[in-house]
Amino acid sequence: MPAYEYVCQDCKKITEVRASYEEKQKGLNPKCENCGSEKMNQYFGNMTVTATFPLH
Ligand SMILES: [Zn+2]
Repeated sequence: MPAYEYVCQDCKKITEVRASYEEKQKGLNPKCENCGSEKMNQYFGNMTVTATFPLH
């Protein structure tokens, strides 16, 4: 199952959401693991940035 990363607009934390393609097409409504905000934008940073950086 693919995982999608969302970045919270409020606290800038990244939340990983696992969902099937069908679920994603129906529309995911991810919530921030850190602050519970629903203002989430999909995060594509890992596709272009190869360097690892500490998230925690
Ligand atoms: Zn948050």
